Amino acid sequence: MPSPDPIFVTQPDMPPLEDFIPLLHKIWESRTLTNGGPFHQQLEHSLCEHLQVDHVSLFTNATIALVTALQALRIGGDVITTPYSFVATAHSLLWNGITPVFVDVDPDTLNLDPGRIERAITPQTTAIMPVHCYGHPCDVDAIEKLATAYNLRVIYDAAHAFGVETASGSVLKYGDLSVLSFHATKVFNTFEGGAIISPDAKTKQRIDRLKNFGFVDETTVVASGINGKMSEVCAAFGLLQLERIGEALRKRGDIDRRYREMLASVRGIECLRDSGEKVANYSYFPIFVKPEYPLERDRLYELLRSHGINGRRYFYPLITDFPMYRGLPSATEENLPNATRAAREIICLPIYPGLDLGAVERIVGIIAEAGR
Ligand SMILES: *Cc1c(COP(=O)(O)O)cnc(C)c1O
Repeated sequence: MPSPDPIFVTQPDMPPLEDFIPLLHKIWESRTLTNGGPFHQQLEHSLCEHLQVDHVSLFTNATIALVTALQALRIGGDVITTPYSFVATAHSLLWNGITPVFVDVDPDTLNLDPGRIERAITPQTTAIMPVHCYGHPCDVDAIEKLATAYNLRVIYDAAHAFGVETASGSVLKYGDLSVLSFHATKVFNTFEGGAIISPDAKTKQRIDRLKNFGFVDETTVVASGINGKMSEVCAAFGLLQLERIGEALRKRGDIDRRYREMLASVRGIECLRDSGEKVANYSYFPIFVKPEYPLERDRLYELLRSHGINGRRYFYPLITDFPMYRGLPSATEENLPNATRAAREIICLPIYPGLDLGAVERIVGIIAEAGR
């Protein structure tokens, strides 16, 4: 019997090609390929409405957006961040000559633990860069209190948090700035892309200049900016994706529910607790492989792979295991017990709109069978 097509943890959600062709025709006609053209303007506008925020600056990707966000707020010194994230979070600090200070995560949410943040603050601390891990909101109120009390800036790496809302509205309104990723593997994608959410027009203007080399007009450069602009092709694709996002999230929600129902009876497998957001985006489906499960995490990971199911060990290794971070005083295992444990126990299972519930049942069937 031929083995079924491999199933990946994320697969880009793509509109029918026929729907994209008319937009490409428009780009060909206008001959505007980049530099804030009509699709770029339209996508910024539509995202403001969709995300219920006031100011969006589109970027070529989230990593350049994070680097630029730090520049925009002129942040230096030490910045508190999480080891339990994609490596770009910490890289954006190094690219600004900032020293990352790693603080442990909460064992249940896998987001930065505010109590531990407070204990790590020193006179050198200038800012906090938390991550809404897997799209579940950080303790934004506690972080805001700390930022006010210690006069710190907060830049959220909101790469996973597209469209997420708590009872008080969009999670992207917290902190000084939030950064989204529109990479192909994310919930909402523009091939490659990202955005910074600003609280006011003046900050957005500074960011928009920084992403365009610091140009104000044809002959005036006011800052040592970078090239972070999103192209018209990506912006047009984003507009098309935005029309489909409601349906995509509904399908992701169905998959999330089916996984939770079926995994509830598998001993030694725990799902990340539902954090009760008003609007979730179901961007990832992490499970903890606990010691009571008969196989170690890596054995289960390999077993799934042998069935063509490519789970991902997000986030393993921890950022603090990479050579450019390993030597930092805050990078030790003793300082980061919860992140260290999570990195050993977590597998993210496949979740994307095109994944049918039959495949979800097959995946859980394999996990349950090996757990007997
Ligand atoms: C994907 C991701 C990034 C980087 O996004 P790009 O758009 O690929 O540059 C940064 N931080 C986190 C947490 C991510 O998951």
